Amino acid sequence: MSASPAVVMRLVASAYCVAERAGSIVRKVLHSGDLGIVEKAGANDLQTLADRLAQQSICASLYRRFPKITIIGEEELPFEEVKDDLIENGQAEEILQKSCPAEYSGLKEEELVVWVDPLDGTKEYTEASRCLHHQAEVQKPHKVLDTSPPHSTALWLLDNVTVLIGIAYGGRAIAGVINQPFYNYQLGAGADLGRTMWGMLGLGAFGFQLQEVPGDRRIVTTTRSHSNKVVTDCVDAMEPHEVIRVGGAGNKIIQLVEGKASAYVFASPGCKKWDTCAPEAILHVVGGKLTDIHGNAYRYDANVKHMNSAGVLATLRNHEYYVSRVPQSVLQALKSD
Ligand code: AMP
Ligand code: MG
Ligand code: MG
Repeated sequence: MSASPAVVMRLVASAYCVAERAGSIVRKVLHSGDLGIVEKAGANDLQTLADRLAQQSICASLYRRFPKITIIGEEELPFEEVKDDLIENGQAEEILQKSCPAEYSGLKEEELVVWVDPLDGTKEYTEASRCLHHQAEVQKPHKVLDTSPPHSTALWLLDNVTVLIGIAYGGRAIAGVINQPFYNYQLGAGADLGRTMWGMLGLGAFGFQLQEVPGDRRIVTTTRSHSNKVVTDCVDAMEPHEVIRVGGAGNKIIQLVEGKASAYVFASPGCKKWDTCAPEAILHVVGGKLTDIHGNAYRYDANVKHMNSAGVLATLRNHEYYVSRVPQSVLQALKSD
């Protein structure tokens, strides 16, 4: 009889199914049209019913199976009394079948820290919802959600939305799961939406096809809704051939590993550890790098500060080039911890 899978493999296998369930919650709330939006720090820092339900589902499901892990979620919510219908018990069989890298096979629950962003790209999610439901109004009485032009202006924002579950050990992001709930939204009503990507150091990355930006083009991806002068000064200093402004930290890392962008440059303290843990793990698996704007790594221990105060710089290749281009004024504005 084969030995039972290592704790960390069981955790990743659960996180995979839990992220899929969260993705389906995110879709359901969008289609209901009733987002229950709450402003946290302001109009650009929002929480919706989907953020709340997805986080409760993720945290309660993981805690039931792994009561000794530390879970840190973005939203400040109780999850002791979560309803049973939000609990996901599945474990991805394809992950349980893989052999755990030797260095992680003996890890205990209490040594693992899970960073959860139940919905990354909330601002874009609310904008896409407004567009979708305006469109439904226009099309009454049929209420068919047609994503074809001319009403498709903000629907591309659906791809900015992700669910992020990162797993850290010894301060390092060692595994991550990213669910993109609206992947394939262009196919319209009735299509099978969503995909899940995952990766683990020493094992590999799955659920996408690794691609690089062709040639030596510098395509910089950055925020579309949290910009300021320091952010744009830093982007300009990279001498990009092209700049893409999209929402979500998870989405921008997907752009890096799928050959849509060469660097994610965000000279702002706005990103938090739950935004970067899962994406960083997947990016590192495929040979990329995620650091602060000075080129220093972030740590993901349970007691670290949540804010990524010194910004984010992520690349698939040529990290040193981008670090070397960061202006002195930006380095001074964003001190390392
Ligand atoms: P963005 O690229 O603007 O979507 O930002 C990536 C992640 O960082 C998202 O989860 C944002 O909510 C978060 N973020 C970035 N800047 C800020 C900010 N100024 N205030 C609150 N959250 C922010
Ligand atoms: Mg986020
Ligand atoms: Mg979020």
